[in-house]
Amino acid sequence: MGSLEGASVLVTGGGSGIGLGCAARFVADGALVTICGRNEERLKSAIATLGDKATYIVADITQEEQITAAIAAAAARGPLKAIVANAGGSTSIGPIGTLDADAWRTTLELNATGTMFTIKHGSKALIEAGGGAIVAVSSIAASNTHRWFGAYGVSKAAVDHLVQLTADELGAFGVRVNGVRPGVVATELIAGIADQGPVLQDYLECMPIARIGRPADIAEAVRFLAGPESSWITGQIINVDGGHHLRRGPDYSSVFKDLFGAEALFGPGAAASD
Ligand code: NDP
Repeated sequence: MGSLEGASVLVTGGGSGIGLGCAARFVADGALVTICGRNEERLKSAIATLGDKATYIVADITQEEQITAAIAAAAARGPLKAIVANAGGSTSIGPIGTLDADAWRTTLELNATGTMFTIKHGSKALIEAGGGAIVAVSSIAASNTHRWFGAYGVSKAAVDHLVQLTADELGAFGVRVNGVRPGVVATELIAGIADQGPVLQDYLECMPIARIGRPADIAEAVRFLAGPESSWITGQIINVDGGHHLRRGPDYSSVFKDLFGAEALFGPGAAASD
């Protein structure tokens, strides 16, 4: 058993993908894991794979009282030592001239404001428990431009700054705050778009370690940043991306050309074959 045995850990968005990978990693470490998300059926299925050290609570991180309740539920299970602010995603897409205001706001609300609520209330609970760690799941879209991704990269850059800001504020209270920036990872978020065809090929060309990521790749980094092994690390954001950040953001033009037309992406006179 590892060094988080008996500790309580909350993973937001822990019902699928990277969050579920993180939850499994903490369960393997002997932690009492609480996962949250909006879809109860998804959470129940996840618990069936995680076993009896894990439990769930339905909570939307964009609703302040719901994330507060999820944090309280995790804190009630044992000494709360770590929170993974993983829940996130995007509804905003397209060239800047086409961006939908509601989708922009919803994406900022989820990734930036939801993560802020998680850190705001999570840090209080960690302080009450004697200190601990928060790990936010950002994205390579925060460190490298992803053309036509709308609010997503912007909102993840906000997550990165939030990590640094709150790390600076909370160190004095015994709370560390760090982040990870996953590259492309095989989850529902990218299914059918970046896990096949020209977009996948382009991702592989951009990665020195040329393979698609697994939730477990991210979970190992999250576990390190959440545990006592990293007790002198705070305000750090680690790209976990096969080295993709060393090159350029991915080329999604094969997908976006069909949606918006070549001229909207590449300017007047651009042909569909560009
Ligand atoms: P998933 O879609 O599988 O996971 C997202 C999880 O977040 C779901 O379980 C979802 O559950 C939950 N969630 C979404 N909105 C909310 C909300 N408002 N309140 C609570 N939970 C919510 O995708 P990933 O595992 O890939 O994504 C996990 C994180 O990793 C995200 O922050 C994403 O931006 C980031 N990421 C992913 C990459 C990838 O390539 N997969 C690359 C870079 C970053 P429910 O719908 O039930 O609420």
